[in-house]
Order: sequence, then structure tokens, then C-alpha cells
Amino acid sequence: MKVAEKYAAIKRQINEACKKANRKSEEIRVIAVTKYVSIQRAEEALEAGLTDLGENRDEGLLAKKEVLKDKPVWHFIGTLQKRKVKNIIDQVDFIHSLDRMPLAEEINKRAHRKMNCLLQVNVSGEESKHGLKPNEVIPFIKELAQFENIVIVGLMTMAPLTDNKELIRNCFQSLRKLRDEVRNLQLPYAPCTELSMGMSHDFTIAIEEGATMVRIGTALVGEDEEVQ
Ligand SMILES: *Cc1c(COP(=O)(O)O)cnc(C)c1O
Repeated sequence: MKVAEKYAAIKRQINEACKKANRKSEEIRVIAVTKYVSIQRAEEALEAGLTDLGENRDEGLLAKKEVLKDKPVWHFIGTLQKRKVKNIIDQVDFIHSLDRMPLAEEINKRAHRKMNCLLQVNVSGEESKHGLKPNEVIPFIKELAQFENIVIVGLMTMAPLTDNKELIRNCFQSLRKLRDEVRNLQLPYAPCTELSMGMSHDFTIAIEEGATMVRIGTALVGEDEEVQ
């Protein structure tokens, strides 16, 4: 299937979820996660009207950016190693995976401008997942006051891998509550308005629970080069 068709189907699902939650679909930024696919496929996504691309490796991001330049808004969504920060820092608009202080230090040191960051939170508590524990988030954010180049625009999470919709929903609800708590602190460097949550299999639940950014790979651009 072409990206345009998949995107049309996803937009219908987004509209439905928005209706249920009494939200406007314009509130939701769809990030096409192109980490599994070719530059051509990413280009097709832009032609289909997508405006935001997400990558989880510096190599993949740089290769695509070389061709697509600044046409899309670029999101770094994967685990970020400290030594890779310098490669991507001037190339991305958002980093969704800030989860430890040495990484914050490195981002702050390497950035040439204020960097939009989301804190990755391990709400589900799965050991395999990266991210701060929920109770670490506010102390962590307070410590960031010393870093002039970091702006915390929101929180990010990945729901547990399960078919249990209630577990997934609880995870998203917890992140939203935490986002509201941070927002209410009214720290100038942590407006924390965004909620980056929801992937191919759970983005409708995420939208019902307040997501402002959904990160969709498989359901939108496919997992690999599909035969058309
Ligand atoms: C790969 C990835 C996605 C997209 O996953 P799909 O299930 O293919 O939609 C979203 N977020 C992160 C952090 C990812 O690594």
C-alpha cells in the first residue's frame, strides 16, 4: 500500500479518537517513524503530506537529512548515546529520549541554540525500557535549571508490549498526570506542554488520553521495502 493510503486511514482513526475525546485533530502532530525504511519511502511520506519524521539512529537520520534537508521537522526518538550527541545536535528539532543527567550535560554543552527535549519516562516499569522512573521526573527537571540550552517541551513514553488495553491506557494516563504536574511548576525552561505517546498499535488510545505527538512507523510507512 502507498503511504498516502495508509496516512488517509490513520487520519480517519485519529479523527475518530479525537471525536471520542472531544479534541481537535489539529492538536496532534503525526511523526512518521522512518527508521525501518528507505529515503525514497521517507520522501513519499512527505509527498503524502506528512511534515514530521522520526529516526532512532544518527546514521539513518543523517543519510535521510542529506537528501530531504530541512523539509521535514526532524525528531530523534531513540536511545541516545552521549558520544552521538554531537552528530545529531544541529540536525534535529526535537529529542524525545532525554533520560539521564550526563546526557543532559552533553546536549547542553554541544547545543548551539536552545534544544527542544522531551523526557523519556519508563511508566510501565519494564526493565527492558529506558527512561526515568515517574518519581524521578520532577527532581530531574529541577536539576536542569543549570542548563541554559535545554528546554523541556514535554514527556515521552512507550507503553508496555501487551494486548491489555487497560494497561496501555493506564500508562498513558500516568504520563499525562505527570505532564500536568510538571507544567504546573511553571518553570520557564520546562513549559512541558507535549505528550509524545502512541505508536502503530496504540496511537488511538494515546490520543484519547491526551497525546500531542504520535510516533507511527509500521502502520504508516511500513517496516521495510514493501513490494508495491
Ligand atoms: C520504532 C519506534 C516507534 C514506531 O514504532 P511502530 O510500532 O513501528 O509504529 C515509535 N517510537 C519509538 C521510540 C520507536 O523506537
